[in-house]
Amino acid sequence: MSAATLRDLLATAARRLAEISATPRLDAEILLAAALDRPRSHLFAWPERRPEPEQSDRFNAWLERRLTGEPVAYILGRREFWSLELEVTPDTLIPRPETERLVELALERLPVDRAMALADLGAGSGAIALALAVERPKARIVATDRSPAALTVARRNAHRSGIHNVEFREGDWCEPLAGERFDLIASNPPYVAAADFHQRRGELRFEPQAALVAGVDGLDALRIIIAQAPDHLKPSGWLLLEHGYDQGEAALTLLRERGFVAVSDHRDAAGISRTSCGRWRA
Ligand code: GLN
Repeated sequence: MSAATLRDLLATAARRLAEISATPRLDAEILLAAALDRPRSHLFAWPERRPEPEQSDRFNAWLERRLTGEPVAYILGRREFWSLELEVTPDTLIPRPETERLVELALERLPVDRAMALADLGAGSGAIALALAVERPKARIVATDRSPAALTVARRNAHRSGIHNVEFREGDWCEPLAGERFDLIASNPPYVAAADFHQRRGELRFEPQAALVAGVDGLDALRIIIAQAPDHLKPSGWLLLEHGYDQGEAALTLLRERGFVAVSDHRDAAGISRTSCGRWRA
């Protein structure tokens, strides 16, 4: 029999989760609200409520999984990004809040009223492509990924969000864009250095390695994209790239050496160098 109140369940879970999570209280709230199939506000409105046994069982099973380190997003199979609720699976990277900065920087460069062609390389769950699609409904967007499993998830996300202006294509980076040019290309490629990945494995081990790690210095994917993109950009088209906290200078140098102009680097909400922009020549 389930005697514990929502308040007690939360307190106990948060205490246990403090061992493994940087956000124990939040994790507990999200899992408990999901187990009850209620918004989080329900937990604060009804702290004395005692959940049904099957609700507590579901919560406890999820809590045990979270205690092994499995991310909340994979346990629930969903994650919020921008204004969207996205399905995520172990085939897709979990979208991070810092990637919303890339979306903002892209939108600043995309007039609302013009029909434009955009591309998202290595789209994963589709986070960037779908956020751009909702904000720029007149745009035509191509999202590429080498992983058919990720593309399946991304297509479902588009469908569920009622988004029809994104086309999904399988292949590496610009490969599926042959013969086409875009007003803006965006990518959050893998950029973790191999050695860093080994250090952070505890935290990242549930996510697809191919979406995270990019060679010894973490720049392999960024180098390929910066090399390929000019063949697929219209004159004055933009390339926007997310990168690691210590890769801002390297990304700007790669962009300049390739011939990009108006290059700039931007910090995320945590003040960390995170996104580089470059404009192809007119
Ligand atoms: N931002 C992620 C991390 O450092 C990495 C994402 C990526 O490689 N694109 O955990």
